[in-house]
Amino acid sequence: MIEDKNQERTDLSQLGEFGLIDHLTKHFEIKQETTIKGIGDDAAVLDFKDNQVVITTDLLVEGVHFDLSYMPLKHLGYKAVVVNLSDVFAMNANATQITVSIAMSNRFPLEAIEELYAGIETAAKLYGVDVVGGDTTSSTTGLLISITALGTVSKEDVVYRNGAKPNDLLVVTGDIGSAYMGLQILEREKEVFKVNPNSQPDLEPYTYIIERQLKPEARQDIVKLLKELEVKPTSMIDISDGLSSEIIHICKQSKVGCDLYENKIPLDPQLISTCEEFDIDATTVALSGGEDYELLFTISQEDFPKIKANPNLTVIGFITDENSGMNLVTRAETKIPLKAQGWNALNNQES
Ligand code: ADP
Ligand code: MG
Repeated sequence: MIEDKNQERTDLSQLGEFGLIDHLTKHFEIKQETTIKGIGDDAAVLDFKDNQVVITTDLLVEGVHFDLSYMPLKHLGYKAVVVNLSDVFAMNANATQITVSIAMSNRFPLEAIEELYAGIETAAKLYGVDVVGGDTTSSTTGLLISITALGTVSKEDVVYRNGAKPNDLLVVTGDIGSAYMGLQILEREKEVFKVNPNSQPDLEPYTYIIERQLKPEARQDIVKLLKELEVKPTSMIDISDGLSSEIIHICKQSKVGCDLYENKIPLDPQLISTCEEFDIDATTVALSGGEDYELLFTISQEDFPKIKANPNLTVIGFITDENSGMNLVTRAETKIPLKAQGWNALNNQES
C-alpha cells in the first residue's frame, strides 16, 4: 500500500557498518544533563547522581510485532521508541536516554533505514530523550528492532504495580480500545488491496483509530500532571495488552480485588461506530485489545478532588479486598469475573 517503487535504493554494503552507523546517528544531539558520553565510544557514560534509575527494553520482530505492508518505517521507528517510554512513565519516572539496536536483511536499502531513523529521531526529540548508543547488524530474514529506555525517578516518587489498597479509585487516562480497531481496519484494507491493488480506500471515517495504531503516544504529560496536582498514585501500569489484563496485574501484585464499571470505560465515538460496523462488542475490545499505551493507576480516595475536573482522567472503578475478586460491573448491573482474555477472546468472537 505504501511502497513507492520509484524510490532511490542505495545498497547498505556501499556504506559499510561504521559508515552506516555514522550516517544514521550524526544528527543526534545530547540534551540531557545526565548524559556524559553518548554515541561514539565503546559505551555510553551516564551520571544519575542521587536519583534512582529505571531501565526497560523491548524487542520488535517483523511479521510478529509489525507488518511493513501497512506500517510505514517512519511510524515503526516512532512507535518503537514510544512503547518503551510508556514503560518508563508507568514507573512515574522521567525518560532520559534510549539505545537503539537493529538487525536487517539486505532487502532493506539505506533509504528504508533512514526512514526508520527519521521516526526514531522525531520521537526522541519530542520526548526529549538522548539516543546514546545501540548496535547494528545484519539478519537473514526481515527487520528486528530493539530499544532500551532509561529514566530517573526519586525514591519518593517511584510507583510500582503492587501498592493498590482497598477503597482506592481505579483511574485510566485517555480512551481505550482504539488501537486494536485501527489494526482491524488496516488488516481489512490489506486484504482488499491484495485482491484489487487499484482500489482507493476511504479511510476518513477511521483516521483517529488508525492513528492510535500507527502513531501512539506515551503519556509523559500525565507524569507531569500528577506531579503538578500533587497526586502520587498508589500503583500504576501502562496499557499495552488490554485493560483487563493490566487491571489483573495490579490486583494480583497488590493482593486486592476490584470492581470495574463497564459504563465508565472511556471509548472514542469512532471506536464505537467501527465496532458497530464490525459487529463486535466495544467493551470486549477495550478490555482485551491492547496497544493503547494509556496509563492505568490507583489513587487514594482523598486525592479524588484533585483529579476530578481533568478530562484526561476517568475513574472507572475502585479497589476492593482480595476476597471480593476482580469483577466487571456490567451496564445491566450484574457482576462478572474479569478475565485476562487477550487476543483470543476477540478472535473467537469474530469467527
Ligand atoms: P562496538 O563494536 O564496540 O559494539 P559499534 O561499532 O557497534 O561498537 O558502535 C559504535 C558506536 O555507535 C557505539 O557508541 C554504539 O553504541 C553506537 N551505535 C551502533 N549502532 C547504533 C545504532 N543502530 N543506533 C545508535 N547508535 C549505534
Ligand atoms: Mg556494536
